Amino acid sequence: MIREIQCRSCASCSTEEVINLGEQPLANNFLSPEFLGLPERRFPLGIVVCTECWMLQITDLVPPVDLFSQYVYFSSYSEAWVVHAAACAARYREEFSPGHVVEIASNDGYLLRHFADHDISHLGIEPAANIAKVARAKGVETRVDFFSEKLARDLVSEHSADLILANNVFAHVPDTNNFVAGLKVLLTADGHAVMEFPYAVEMIGQGEFDTIYHEHVFYFTLTSLEPLMARHQMRITRVERTPMHGESLRIFVRHDSHRADETVASLREEEVRLGVGSTAFYQDFASKAEVTRSQVDDQFREFKAKGQRVAAYGAAAKGSTFLNFCGLTVEDIEFVVDRSPHKQGKLMPGTLIPILSCEELGNRAPEVTLLLAWNFADEILGQQAGYREAGGKFLIPIPEVRLA
Ligand SMILES: [Zn+2]
Repeated sequence: MIREIQCRSCASCSTEEVINLGEQPLANNFLSPEFLGLPERRFPLGIVVCTECWMLQITDLVPPVDLFSQYVYFSSYSEAWVVHAAACAARYREEFSPGHVVEIASNDGYLLRHFADHDISHLGIEPAANIAKVARAKGVETRVDFFSEKLARDLVSEHSADLILANNVFAHVPDTNNFVAGLKVLLTADGHAVMEFPYAVEMIGQGEFDTIYHEHVFYFTLTSLEPLMARHQMRITRVERTPMHGESLRIFVRHDSHRADETVASLREEEVRLGVGSTAFYQDFASKAEVTRSQVDDQFREFKAKGQRVAAYGAAAKGSTFLNFCGLTVEDIEFVVDRSPHKQGKLMPGTLIPILSCEELGNRAPEVTLLLAWNFADEILGQQAGYREAGGKFLIPIPEVRLA
């Protein structure tokens, strides 16, 4: 029986299933080995699309307390991301000369420190207390909280912002109307809110099913965002595509007294041409994921037949979704490497594969490494030139399954 799921943006009940990835553990819940053997909670994972406003969204929400208690994502452990943050900050300082900057989900201060270092007044909002502490130590003023309309009202007298930044958080907040209402409250009349998130047109087109995990509630397109913004008298005035996290979309949002430029009209036309506002656009996505799973399965059968040892690279949420959907476990993959020391020594959720430091690729020399962080393929293949020269191969699963 198909459940009725109400759209979290427009409240319509006409939603259609796009993909069902089965019951999965929380993708960022890296387990300490002492919990091995205890039952791990699993929740249904899948997405639907609203046929009224075309918002793509997760089927089942997980309470935020469960999500954030073990949160260990530190932005500063990806070099590409750190470089990206510095470049963005320099550009925004130049372009907007902000008087006061607020960043939502400011993490360890990876972005705001580039404003703090220039003595620009700022405030970071970060729900994880341990991560906020790291930010404060870098001189980044940080408040431990979730962003909401209520928080915006509490902050507006002291922290009304002419620049609001929100990278990879907008799509994670279930009450999206409340989030946009908060932007409306906190943004000055001439201000800009700049937000980045994975672009769902790219995800659907390239079969990037591992972009889906419980914390990632929405999968945004311009088609679905414009009515959401309009509902709160806000407008997307510019759009840009960036190569981060697969391919991301960066939107500039202002009060609706401001006009949109030609980048918005051009992306809107492109989405119309692709049929983003029709069910046809979404219908091959699930079968694409099945093809990837069966090709990966074939590859692993071959590795086993040849007696080859396999590791994986990248203990991120997308890796967890990928491994759990493909049914790969510690029987198939000896270990996963990751640069973050906060993840090393823990186990991947669901699959229980141990997480080790990147040096172990060289030390243990598995014949093949499944690249779960395929979105950083260039950076990682460059860093692992030694492993490859010694005969190691990477299995890159998305957008096409290939060995490199
Ligand atoms: Zn809707």
